[in-house]
Amino acid sequence: MQNIRLRFAPSPTGALHIGGVRTALYNYLLARKHGGTFILRIEDTDQNRYVPGAEQYIVDALKWCGIEPDEGPGYGGTYGPYRQSERKDLYGQYALQLIENGHAYYAFDTPEELDARRLAEKEAGNHTFKYDGKIRMKMRNSLSMEKSDVSALLASGADYTVRLKVPSGETVTVQDQIRGEVSFQSDELDDKVILKGDGMPTYHLANIVDDHLMEITHVIRGEEWLPSTAHHVLLYRFLGWESSMPEFAHLPLILKPSGNGKLSKRDGAKLGIPVFPLSWESDVVEDSFIGFREFGFDPAAVTNFLAFLGWNPGTEQEIFSLEALSQAFSLDKVSKSGARFDFDKAKWFNQQYIQAASNEKLAEVIQPIAAERGYVVSNQFMAGVCGLLKERVTFYTDILNDGYYFFESVKEYDEKTLSKKWKPERAPLFETLRSDLNALPDYSAAATEGVVKSFMAANELGFGDVLPILRIALSGTTKGPGVFEMMELLGKEEIDKRISDLLHQVAP
Ligand code: GLU
Repeated sequence: MQNIRLRFAPSPTGALHIGGVRTALYNYLLARKHGGTFILRIEDTDQNRYVPGAEQYIVDALKWCGIEPDEGPGYGGTYGPYRQSERKDLYGQYALQLIENGHAYYAFDTPEELDARRLAEKEAGNHTFKYDGKIRMKMRNSLSMEKSDVSALLASGADYTVRLKVPSGETVTVQDQIRGEVSFQSDELDDKVILKGDGMPTYHLANIVDDHLMEITHVIRGEEWLPSTAHHVLLYRFLGWESSMPEFAHLPLILKPSGNGKLSKRDGAKLGIPVFPLSWESDVVEDSFIGFREFGFDPAAVTNFLAFLGWNPGTEQEIFSLEALSQAFSLDKVSKSGARFDFDKAKWFNQQYIQAASNEKLAEVIQPIAAERGYVVSNQFMAGVCGLLKERVTFYTDILNDGYYFFESVKEYDEKTLSKKWKPERAPLFETLRSDLNALPDYSAAATEGVVKSFMAANELGFGDVLPILRIALSGTTKGPGVFEMMELLGKEEIDKRISDLLHQVAP
C-alpha cells in the first residue's frame, strides 16, 4: 500500500472516551503498519456543541497514549489548517457546486415551519418525519419554489440551509472493510443539511471535503457513522470524487461489561473510560471519577487493552507493545460483533506491564507521582520499592498506596493479628532481637535473616511467633514483600526505630 493517509477526526465536544481512543489507535496502527501518515483533524463546525479545552484534552490524551499524529493542529503538515473552523471559507464553493449541478438545494424553512410539518405528518400517520424526497416538494425550498422567488429571497439575505438532494429509488452501496457490502435504499435517506445558516458546513460536507483535500485513503471510525456513509458515498459521486473515495471500515460497538447493550458514557466514567479526569463534566466529577492515567495505568497497557477491543491477532499472544501492534494489526481481523468492555482485563494487562518493567523504569514513572504526595526518595530507593512490590500490584499508584510505609511511618498496626500473636512475656526477647539486629555491621537480607533465625533457635520460637510481629513493626500488616528484603531496603536505623515503636505500643 502506498502513501496511505489516515485521520482521526474528533469533534471537540468533551473528553476523549475509550471508543474514541480505540478509533484513534486503529487509525494510527494501520498508518504505522504501512509507513503511512496519521492525521488529527478537529471537526469543530458545530459551535453549539463546542467545549473549550476539549481539543487540548484530545491532544494530551493521544500524546499520553503514545499515538501522536504526524499532521494536525500543533503538529504541522502541508494539508492544513487541520481545524475545520479555520477552513470555514472552503466549504461554501462545494455546496454551490452541488446546487449548480442539481444535487443540492436551498431550503428556507424556519424552525416553526419544520415543526408544523412534523406535526401535520404525525397527524397524517407518518410518525418518522424526515426531510426527504417524499416531503421536499411540500416545503419551502429552491426545488418547490419559483426561481424568481428563490432569487428574491437570497438577495434579501433570508436565512437558508443547503440540503443534499438524495436521488429516489436507488440502492446506495458501501463497501466496508469490516462488514463487507452494506446497502441502503435511497428512499430511506433524508436530505441532509450540508451547509447551515451561519455558513458553516455540517459534519457531512466538511468531512467529505476534508477527506478529499487531505487525500485520506482510509476512514476508520465507529459503527454509529455507518448510516451516514450512504450520504457520503453520494457526496463523493456528486462532487466527482468517486474514483478517489477512501476505503471505509466501521468498528464494532463497545459493549457494557455484562455484554448487554452499548457502553454508555456513564458506565464508562464509572469504569475509568476517559484518559484523564474531566474537569468540565460536573456530573462525572460528582462521581469522583478519575481517568486511566490517574488510576495508575501504563499507557502501553491501555493501548494493548484497547487494541483487543474488537481485534485479535489470531494467535494466543496477548502482550503487544505499540510497535508490535503496528506490525500485527490488520482490518481483516477486526470483528463485526460488539466488543465487551472488561475492566478486569484492562487491569490484567496493566499488571503484566508493571511486572515486565525494570525497577528503574518503574521508579522513573512513579517518582513524579510520589513527589506530588510529598514522598522524596532517591531513584535507587524507589527502584528497590518497585522491585519488592511489582509482583503484587495492579496500578502504579498501588506501589505508593499499598507500600506507603516505605515512605513514611506505619500508620496503623494490624491489631487483630497482634492480639493473636503477641505474647507480653516475650517483650524482653524482642528487645534482644532488636539489639542483635542493630549490632549487625552488614544489614543485608541474608544477614538479618541469619540473626532472626538464630534468635528463633535460641529461644525455641517458630516463624509464626516472630515474623508476623516483625512484619507488623515494619509495615503495619502481615501482607507484603519478604520481610528481610524490606529490612534491607529500609535500613538499620529505620528498622530499629520501627521495632522500638511497636514494642512501646504493645509493651509500654
Ligand atoms: N467528527 C466525527 C466524530 O466526532 C468524525 C467521524 C468520522 O470519523 O468521520 O466522531
